[in-house]
Amino acid sequence: LYVQGDLAPGAAVAPTLDQSRYLTQVMRLKAGDELLVFNGRDGEWRVSVAEVLKKGVILRAEEQMRPQTYGPDLELIVAVVKKARVETIVEKAAELGAKRVRLALTHRTNADRLRLDRLDAIAEEAAEQTGRLDVPVVDDPVKLDALLDGWEDGRRLMFCDETGGAPAVSALTAAGDGKWAILIGPEGGFSPEEGERLRSLPFTTAVSLGPRILRADTAAIAAMTLWQAAVGD
Ligand code: SAM
Repeated sequence: LYVQGDLAPGAAVAPTLDQSRYLTQVMRLKAGDELLVFNGRDGEWRVSVAEVLKKGVILRAEEQMRPQTYGPDLELIVAVVKKARVETIVEKAAELGAKRVRLALTHRTNADRLRLDRLDAIAEEAAEQTGRLDVPVVDDPVKLDALLDGWEDGRRLMFCDETGGAPAVSALTAAGDGKWAILIGPEGGFSPEEGERLRSLPFTTAVSLGPRILRADTAAIAAMTLWQAAVGD
């Protein structure tokens, strides 16, 4: 169960209506059952074993634990596409272990207005459902150029290029684990100038996801799955 705020030992936690429905109707928990409560964001999080009560959930005092560092470090950068597809991409990124989803504004980006609070809620729900103990951060849309200008040292960028690139798995296994980002373009693809810049950067590898042109959400899921298979955990 994802909660915001501190997990003070012995504190009572009031699940939201959706969470209560999920606990009782989907997970069929009843009073006395145990569950994990976490408040993970940005790597700072605690996990507590809690007990379901008739009303709400109470944290057990004795089991406060700070889990080990959590999985390999993947960021998904996706050009803003139609809202429904962005929502799917955020949900799948949470399931497939991305730590962060960054929305990029590119030359051919779709102008759909996105609601970040809704994307956050989708990320939280997917994190709970998938059993991970942190919630991926979803950043506000930023220009791709600004993202590349401020690129974090030591993070490799797997640039998914439908016009051709190395087979994704060999690129991933060749570079090995460590910090990765996956970049997916918009419905209209990257512009020639964007492609040129991306191919010129030292930290990028242009990869192909196969001979067919995939929709952005399919490409994001395929790329994250290949990353997971090659270097994830
Ligand atoms: N330019 C494409 C076209 O001509 O229809 C459309 C781009 S595609 C819908 C959206 C994004 O998914 C691409 O920019 C790329 O990042 C990724 N993508 C789709 N198919 C791919 C493939 N076979 N290999 C690598 N990336 C792919």
